[in-house]
Amino acid sequence: MIEPVRFEQPSPNKVRITWRDKVKTTHAARALRLECPCASCVDELTGRKILDPDSVPSDVGIVDADIVGRYAFRFTFSDGHATGLYAFDRLRAAGDVVDPDAE
Ligand SMILES: [Zn+2]
Repeated sequence: MIEPVRFEQPSPNKVRITWRDKVKTTHAARALRLECPCASCVDELTGRKILDPDSVPSDVGIVDADIVGRYAFRFTFSDGHATGLYAFDRLRAAGDVVDPDAE
């Protein structure tokens, strides 16, 4: 099971998650915002993105993060959006794996 054990924000525009198997991934806040899977960003029937990327500030950040149930993060973005649930498995797959030698 994919589970986070640690959540960090190296900067307001970036998050780093350490997973239970010790793999770390980083995620740009704007990329997360653009991938928001909520019903106002993605058409639930067709899966088509309806979010206009131009409507998202280029410097959007994450101001808060919660864990929902045992399967997802909910991020509160600096543009006020906070309805997307980011399932751990999808989040992990979408992140850039941090090279442990680079630390
Ligand atoms: Zn959304």
